[in-house]
Amino acid sequence: MRFTGKRAVVTGGASGIGRATALRLAEEGAVVWIGDIDVAGGEEIAATSNGRIHFQRTDVMQAGDIEALMLAADAAGGLDVVFNNAGAAGSRDPIDVISPEDWDRTQALLLRSVALGIRYAAPLMTARGGGAIVNTASIAALQTGAAPTAYSVAKAGVLHLTTMAAADLAKHNIRVNAICPGFITTNIFTTALGIEGDKRAMANAAIGAIAAKAQPLQRAGRPEDIAAAVAYLASDDAVFVTGTHITVDGGMTIGPRHSW
Ligand code: NAD
Repeated sequence: MRFTGKRAVVTGGASGIGRATALRLAEEGAVVWIGDIDVAGGEEIAATSNGRIHFQRTDVMQAGDIEALMLAADAAGGLDVVFNNAGAAGSRDPIDVISPEDWDRTQALLLRSVALGIRYAAPLMTARGGGAIVNTASIAALQTGAAPTAYSVAKAGVLHLTTMAAADLAKHNIRVNAICPGFITTNIFTTALGIEGDKRAMANAAIGAIAAKAQPLQRAGRPEDIAAAVAYLASDDAVFVTGTHITVDGGMTIGPRHSW
């Protein structure tokens, strides 16, 4: 119950990693505001949460939406925790093909959104003596093979933004850290491939099997694996941890062990 009496914001909380994290924070005592463009998904979680999870439609491409989300949580007694997590695959084009518009959209969705999340959360946290911010990066920020270029560059930006923001905000007792998930079974892949409805479960199982082979711990990651690490970084257990990231990837970035 590390979040008893605390208020948290989770962007992208209607699905996958954000959903698991919203549930974990609420289980540990927080009141959570989910911001997402998926109204049906967000409202469904809120309706089954016994009042512990609220939903506010939020498009993280829109600065005003992000600010309104932070203010909503703050108005309920003060903003303590923010998980800047919403995202999607973005453009899959290589650098010699991508349009300027697709480049900008991908950076806005994955990097500018996190910068603005910090921008609007920080003054509210400063006013109450501190807080904890966690940003979703990716193993794509650490290696070239994991994801397309625009996505990987945005996620590398999230890591550096995390360290810069940690440096800027330490004097206000605001900690800023990031999480680098490996391959986690969520709808991000099926959404990117346009696979909807009944076919999703089968596609996710197939993607999970591929991920299991790539990760030394030999299973696909689960959203709950990430939620546990985010909850640690957001909690007072990590009270002296700032400006860093935790990689949760089943060992994928250390690569396979050769037998010779
Ligand atoms: P997901 O598709 O299950 O969840 C993403 C959520 O973000 C969805 O609810 C979606 O509606 C929301 N979203 C998308 N665009 C939005 C917008 N403009 N405004 C508000 N909400 C928006 O996928 P996920 O895997 O849980 O992704 C969460 C984060 O984790 C993303 O930032 C993603 O890049 C990152 N990530 C995922 C993996 C993985 O393997 N699944 C690995 C590394 C990083």
